Amino acid sequence: RGRLYVVATPIGNLGDLSFRALAILRQADWIAAEDTRHTGKLLSHYGISMRKQVAHHEHNWREQVPFLLSELQERRAAVALVCDAGTPLVADPGTQLVREAIQRNIPVVSVPGPCAALAALTISGFLSTPNSGPVSAEDWAALLGNSFSFYGFLPHRSSGHSRWRQKRTQLMETIIREAWYRPVILYEAPHRLRETVHDLALAARSVHVTAAEATTVQPPDASLQICIARELTKVHEEVYRGLLREAAAYLEQREPRGEYCLVLGPPSRPEDPPHALHFCTEDQDVVPV
Ligand code: SAM
Repeated sequence: RGRLYVVATPIGNLGDLSFRALAILRQADWIAAEDTRHTGKLLSHYGISMRKQVAHHEHNWREQVPFLLSELQERRAAVALVCDAGTPLVADPGTQLVREAIQRNIPVVSVPGPCAALAALTISGFLSTPNSGPVSAEDWAALLGNSFSFYGFLPHRSSGHSRWRQKRTQLMETIIREAWYRPVILYEAPHRLRETVHDLALAARSVHVTAAEATTVQPPDASLQICIARELTKVHEEVYRGLLREAAAYLEQREPRGEYCLVLGPPSRPEDPPHALHFCTEDQDVVPV
């Protein structure tokens, strides 16, 4: 039997590839890549043969999964599954390959590493302290500990179809409710960022979470927070932390470009860190490798 390795790769800074990921990519018989040209840059940077790449993406997985499974089973091949950036299967292809490998009793091995969602979450400042010790049933904040939600990309459609709009609004309201309890992570494309942040702020105005429901007692005009993490680990990294209702004004300043991850956080409390805009430039810690 072969092995299927689910390998996380950098989300920007090539120095974020782990030693183990590098070893697995070097040893693998096949590297199943979402975009062979994109992964080719990583492979050439580390001097890994590009010839063992095989394209595996949302348009060809039906043909490629049987091929990779037969290589795993019959040739006992080691297959490394990668995506363009970060962790495969997280808003990326790979589900069918992993599920079918599990069904066939082929070992599926994680080679963990970068993930934009967790990178943004952990610098947002919205994650609360992990549970430690017993908590009372009334203490919801402690019970929820440091839980969080991840929704990936929200459904979108260019047409103004009314039923779809209604569904999106409902989903936004669910997300807003959720954000009162735990951080919510979203991915968004730059050209839809302003609309999504605007729609979230709109939904926040119409969702009323009572003090009894909420984790802490809030004034009636409490506003959720948002962390907008742009181009993490890259030269143009920029992190905005502020109130959701004020984020639209920040995004108006300049056309959104690059990759963005959003984290919604609970209404701020006096003990929370202050809101700020943080930049990370070349001369800071973006290490050229
Ligand atoms: N599987 C990937 C992961 O583990 O992070 C996510 C893939 S998803 C197709 C791509 C989205 O992730 C982008 O549209 C953006 O929302 C987010 N993303 C990826 N790289 C990022 C970065 N360097 N900074 C901020 N967000 C990023």
